[in-house]
Amino acid sequence: ATMPPLLSAIANAGRHGVLVKSAVVMERIGQVDAVALDKTGTLTEGSPRVTDVRPLPGSGLDEEELLTLAAAAERPSEHPLARAVVDAARERGPGLPGAEDFTSAPGVGVTAVVGGRTVAVGAPARLLEDTPGAAAELEESGRTAVLVVVDGTPAGLLGIADRLRPDAAATVAALASLTGTAPVLLTGDNPRAAAHLAVEAGIDDVRAGLLPQDKLAAVQEMEGAGRKVLVVGDGVNDAPALAAAHTGIAMGRAGSDLALETADAVIVRDELAAVPATVALSRRARRLVV
Ligand code: ADP
Ligand code: MG
Repeated sequence: ATMPPLLSAIANAGRHGVLVKSAVVMERIGQVDAVALDKTGTLTEGSPRVTDVRPLPGSGLDEEELLTLAAAAERPSEHPLARAVVDAARERGPGLPGAEDFTSAPGVGVTAVVGGRTVAVGAPARLLEDTPGAAAELEESGRTAVLVVVDGTPAGLLGIADRLRPDAAATVAALASLTGTAPVLLTGDNPRAAAHLAVEAGIDDVRAGLLPQDKLAAVQEMEGAGRKVLVVGDGVNDAPALAAAHTGIAMGRAGSDLALETADAVIVRDELAAVPATVALSRRARRLVV
């Protein structure tokens, strides 16, 4: 028998490295007329590196101590920023101390008890009312500033840099032309770093500092205005938006388990350009079906 068009399209999407979970999903992908993209791990490579380690005056910590405390607290986290912190600490020194009572809040950061000290690591604006000037300075240069708080006192900042994916700008342009609408950027990261990256990716509409429920609300608002939204994301913080979208696609290589389970399709190979390719495959298959 010849394969029904939607099944052939699923097989073709597979060749592009996209795992589409059902024929219904394959059909829906081609219906989208708006796109919302996550930043960290989606538009960026998701292999960020620590570029700056800055203890705050009066913290009593040197660079290595600051990095070690932060890395010990981050070790259980699967967030790309957490992996960057752990890798940086391992490069500089031997083993990390153990951590207890780990908690994580998507879009905010982590906490844990390390050697009797309570360590919080996360977005400066979420952990403090007045973000240190040094954080703004790091963010102006497109970096993500991560604050380390020890026993309730701000102890230092880490600057973390990630690269735009090589196919990000081309993907944004292809999705704009396929849907007739400019994609929007939804990110939990700070507005300064987000704006810096959006310019490189060719995105004008940037919504930054979003918690998972804010990403969800942004998608619901677009859907409420009659749009069929394609959400592309990788994080735990993207899961509610991926679930609410007309179609959700997750980045698979470094994506969180929750994002992979929630999404309708998964990009198994690490190419963002597979997204517009799959939209086009769906449209072609639907023309054959109807
Ligand atoms: P994005 O939407 O760009 O993927 P996230 O919502 O995952 O970003 O994270 C938003 C912000 O929350 C980060 O820029 C960081 O400041 C903070 N954050 C979240 N998780 C962590 C973590 N494990 N360690 C440090 N900071 C974190
Ligand atoms: Mg992300």
